[in-house]
Amino acid sequence: MKKPTSIILAGGMLMTACVLTSCERLDPPANTNRTSESRAAAQSTPPPSEPDTTDDSAVRDSSVATEPTGTNHTTGATAASGAAATHVSSAASTLPPGSELPVCKFEPMLVNARNPLPANYAPNLMRLGAYNGEDRFLHADAAPFAVAMVAAAKANNVNLTYRSTHRTVARQDANFRNSFQSRVNNGMSREDAFAATAAWIAPPGTSEHNAGIAIDFNLVEERFENTAEFKWLMANAHNYGFILRYPNDTRELTGINYEPWHFTFVGVNYAPKIRESGLVLEQWLAQNGTACRQDESVVDAFKQVLVSVR
Ligand SMILES: [Zn+2]
Repeated sequence: MKKPTSIILAGGMLMTACVLTSCERLDPPANTNRTSESRAAAQSTPPPSEPDTTDDSAVRDSSVATEPTGTNHTTGATAASGAAATHVSSAASTLPPGSELPVCKFEPMLVNARNPLPANYAPNLMRLGAYNGEDRFLHADAAPFAVAMVAAAKANNVNLTYRSTHRTVARQDANFRNSFQSRVNNGMSREDAFAATAAWIAPPGTSEHNAGIAIDFNLVEERFENTAEFKWLMANAHNYGFILRYPNDTRELTGINYEPWHFTFVGVNYAPKIRESGLVLEQWLAQNGTACRQDESVVDAFKQVLVSVR
């Protein structure tokens, strides 16, 4: 029995957000249920030092994670946090190694500062497993491939852990504000603090983690590149539809600093090609005829809210 997965998109936003989908499971999991998305917003152990990355680290200090004085949640991206009636399946974690993977029709999905998610985007999520006792979820189209990849790594004595996966827009918003506020508290101008924060934490609605297509593995520090886990991922991740999304020295192209731990699902039909090309996703899509918008209005609006506060 086939059961197509789906994601919900605002009709007019589909093209501009470069969102494509989807996979169908050949052998869908039996147990599908709905759980609170808040379980997906699991708190992970924070990285020990700056850069604090795109992770959940900022949430550890809830005092500035919510509502800085005088701000409003006015951006479209922030509004998306209210539309998080996400469908969650928990069966992916039971997919045994070697199981038949879904036929993947997933196509690369571009999410960045210029290509924010539609305001009512709500990914169909599937549970991957857990990290430090907290559940981890991913877009249902990507999850079976992630589970299979991690199982394959384990068979090679490489232990990949799901440090950070799907993150709600609300969590992203809190992470960003927290990190931003820390910089301001340390004497940085609000303008500079916004730029410095944005280099590590995508504004809400512009993170691949909000889309549920990215995984931060194991160690959210640059020295992850020296590990066996990183080397295994670089040699094998494309076979499971994942690419290193923010390679070294590509910030000019991606807007994000080097993140050796961050891998993104682009689908098994594309990941090998993109890897082979040596291009980052933005470049590859541009060269392969996918027109994506260059609209920074969502980020600009978010920035305006934070920077203008006195
Ligand atoms: Zn990440």
